[in-house]
Amino acid sequence: MQSVPEIFGSLVFNDKVMKERLPKDAYVALKKTVKNGEALDPTLAGTIADVMKEWAIEKGATHYTHWFQPMTGITAEKHDSFISPQSDGTVIMKFSGKELIKGEPDASSFPSGGLRSTFEARGYTAWDASSYAFIKDGTLCIPTAFISYSGQVLDKKTPLLRSMNVLSAQVKRFLKLFGKTTAHVNVTVGAEQEYFLITKEMFDKRKDLITTGRTLLGARPPKGQEMEDHYFGNIKPRVIAYMEDLDRELWKLGIYAKTRHNEVAPAQHELAPIFTALNVANDQNQLTMEIMKKVAERHGLVCLLHEKPFAGVNGSGKHNNWSISTDEGENLLDPGKTPDLNFQFLLMLTSVIKAVDKHQDLMRLSVATAGNDHRLGANEAPPAIFSVFIGSQLEDILEAIAGGKAYTHKNAGKMKLGVEAIPEFSSDTSDRNRTSPFAFTGNKFEFRMLGSSINIACPNIILNTCVADVLDEVCTKLEKSKNLTADIKAVIAENYSSHKRIVFNGNNYSREWQEEAARRGLINLKTTPEALPNYTRPENVALFEKHKVYTARELEARQEILLENYCKIINIEALTMLSMVTKEILPACFKYENELADTVSKKAALKIASATETALLTRISALTDSAYKSKLKLEEAIVAAKAVAPIEDAAKFYQENVFMSMQELRTSCDELETLISKKLWPFPTYADILFSV
Ligand code: ADP
Ligand code: MG
Repeated sequence: MQSVPEIFGSLVFNDKVMKERLPKDAYVALKKTVKNGEALDPTLAGTIADVMKEWAIEKGATHYTHWFQPMTGITAEKHDSFISPQSDGTVIMKFSGKELIKGEPDASSFPSGGLRSTFEARGYTAWDASSYAFIKDGTLCIPTAFISYSGQVLDKKTPLLRSMNVLSAQVKRFLKLFGKTTAHVNVTVGAEQEYFLITKEMFDKRKDLITTGRTLLGARPPKGQEMEDHYFGNIKPRVIAYMEDLDRELWKLGIYAKTRHNEVAPAQHELAPIFTALNVANDQNQLTMEIMKKVAERHGLVCLLHEKPFAGVNGSGKHNNWSISTDEGENLLDPGKTPDLNFQFLLMLTSVIKAVDKHQDLMRLSVATAGNDHRLGANEAPPAIFSVFIGSQLEDILEAIAGGKAYTHKNAGKMKLGVEAIPEFSSDTSDRNRTSPFAFTGNKFEFRMLGSSINIACPNIILNTCVADVLDEVCTKLEKSKNLTADIKAVIAENYSSHKRIVFNGNNYSREWQEEAARRGLINLKTTPEALPNYTRPENVALFEKHKVYTARELEARQEILLENYCKIINIEALTMLSMVTKEILPACFKYENELADTVSKKAALKIASATETALLTRISALTDSAYKSKLKLEEAIVAAKAVAPIEDAAKFYQENVFMSMQELRTSCDELETLISKKLWPFPTYADILFSV
């Protein structure tokens, strides 16, 4: 078996390969493009394409594709082979600079939110040289941005790159205040990924899992996660075999898969990579999710990335660890040993606090999806209310600065309790608060509201832009300062005092916090249909237009696509549920009722009492009736939803009527599951599935 360093990055056209194979001028030019986003000389593109093709062919590739991230939320690819016909009936393998730089896929079948009229089918994909090309399924994949014929964004990568540039420019100004310059600012992200692993055998027996990725029905199992014996527990041999295989596949693609462990729920696991540049982290997270599913198949397993595959047990999230660093390796969120004296850090910290407080609605909507609605606020994931955890030490420091008082270090006794010491600080804070939506964990912020299947671009686009906007304000003010040290302190105090309502270090899962948050005036957007329309609030449009991350039209399109997507998901779920109830559950109930009725009448003929059978039959009969009634109600709601417009109202209607009717129907069906004979119940139960591996 090859060693890890040997296989690591073996399918990636990375810097090492470029250096070895590209002519020097092409290499130097490409590096500049990668680092500074400078445009690439088109003549060099031909050389690079040729070298890339030769390398890919050596690795067994026959095709290439522009790999992009349309608004479907997953990646898209259309493979073209390298073959080029010759006059003598043979072929040669060709790949031109033009083919590398630009593609023109038919954009008409990707969501555009009205940005593209159907007659303008054309869209462009453009090479993103800042993310390495790689080989997957015998195909050279070139990461690309995807834009419409008229130049409007149709994807998630383009605005992400824009937001990184915007933040980078502001951070450079910020650093200047402290007498520093840097060639390049990196936004770094490590995305921890949760997932469920179940057997293919169980999966194939459930239409809901196949069609929607989650169970739409299912009674609680006798054993769920209450024993708390799964988190960090021994990993079963079959799961370990999967994880080993997965790690190797990810390493080949240059993904720094680092940590693997069991999660809280049975059959739930987590993979954490080592953090990297945001753009790359995003591409790699998309790849990770894809490879997770593929490798599972090889092991007779299915990897579920839905946010809530099973009601009553924990759902899956994704933790977006975010920070900013310079080329020289300085992490701008590193407090150092004496954070109370580190004004650069405190200014950055309070600027982030201000940014997320000002834009709570955007932070919330950045993670709003139908799947994530099952998690946020469900006592397992952060609530739908956005808040920031900074830990008691930083809170004390900021309180002191805001109050114009000196900060006194806490006594050693307290430090022994692990309340505030640095460097212990980092592990302490993350340990003690797992309930915060946005937690400062030592040298980065951990945004924990993301659902497991989300593309991380959107939350990061929003976070980058909001922080950049505040840094812009802060720099504009301080660049004029005559007394910089005092004024920096004043801005830290002002940032914190005006926005400390967003800081909460307590238990975010508690009822008291909900009440406290309401008193503080924090926004609580419980569902996706409530959250998404905030995209186009005038203040938000102004923010994105100011920084040229989105135009007003692009925002409207995005909002429309996401709302439409929400409606479609609920509609598909509702139809799937109806089919399962009508074709599978009700017939099973009738059969069991028939068996029971048969027993009752036979016993009556023999003059034997049948109290048990009668009671059971009566209960099942009543539940079957109520299931049937709920089914009719759901059918009506589905029809009515089709007529609701505009899309904001339709999404609300789906949530309030269709989704709620599904919940009602589920209640009777789940009780029926507990009463009907095991041999008649048409699909595997939670206990069957969750303990199947
Ligand atoms: P844990 O949360 O388990 O204590 P860590 O704090 O080490 O583990 O890291 C969690 C995730 O945060 C990992 O993906 C890690 O690579 C990432 N991370 C660590 N430092 C940074 C940083 N400066 N910027 C972005 N992500 C980071
Ligand atoms: Mg974490």
